[in-house]
Amino acid sequence: MTTTESYEQFSVRRREEILERICNAAQRAGRDPQDISLVAVSKTVGADQVRAALQAGWRHFAENRPQELKKKLSELSDELAAAQASFDMIGNLQTNKINLVVGKVRLIHSISSEHLAQAVALRSQVHEVVSRVLLEVNVSGEESKSGFTPQEAFDALPRLMELEGISVEGLMTMAPAHNPDAARRTFSGLRELAERMRDATGLELATLSCGMSDDFEIAIEEGSTLVRLGRVAFDPGYQSLGKQ
Ligand SMILES: *Cc1c(COP(=O)(O)O)cnc(C)c1O
Repeated sequence: MTTTESYEQFSVRRREEILERICNAAQRAGRDPQDISLVAVSKTVGADQVRAALQAGWRHFAENRPQELKKKLSELSDELAAAQASFDMIGNLQTNKINLVVGKVRLIHSISSEHLAQAVALRSQVHEVVSRVLLEVNVSGEESKSGFTPQEAFDALPRLMELEGISVEGLMTMAPAHNPDAARRTFSGLRELAERMRDATGLELATLSCGMSDDFEIAIEEGSTLVRLGRVAFDPGYQSLGKQ
């Protein structure tokens, strides 16, 4: 933010910069930029910054904590309805917090185990909704990351497809930080896993949720259809790692 720029102006300028970078990355990969959707991760900002982002044109938002999701949904309910905007759940979901999420979000990215999938499916049936979900896969194999191993996801999918109450729409992953080569391998690994799972089940698995502020261009080059952007969208002080 320059000294004369308001947060609203920053938000508009930054969204334009992001859209241009997405277009360029898609072009490098021979992809249609329309096939990539954007989610603004608002976990570190308040309702006012989300309002600025809505004004700037963002329509999909995400939170990683159920309590904060609930708070934002109630603070912003009128604006979200007027703009037909929605929130996604992207963070660790404990079974005792499922009620805060089911029926309230567009998409749950963070189905990290078969047990959680079953619990979300059950709760969704009680609420008489079908929850759209992604399976979170720990492609990089880092100890610190949650999610299915690629083999677990592959093996579980036929069973998860049978569950009423959820619809598995794709896969989600997070790459190792500060390591562009490892990030690229992680994203291509997610794409290849999705291809194997499609071949085995016939399911579309259209959504590949990967790419964050530091690595979204690499993710797009490797097939991401949904990037989750926090700092780059909301933080005027965020410094990009640079192209690639
Ligand atoms: C915080 C978060 C993001 C966004 O991270 P940035 O690096 O700020 O873009 C994306 N996905 C998940 C799951 C997150 O928790």
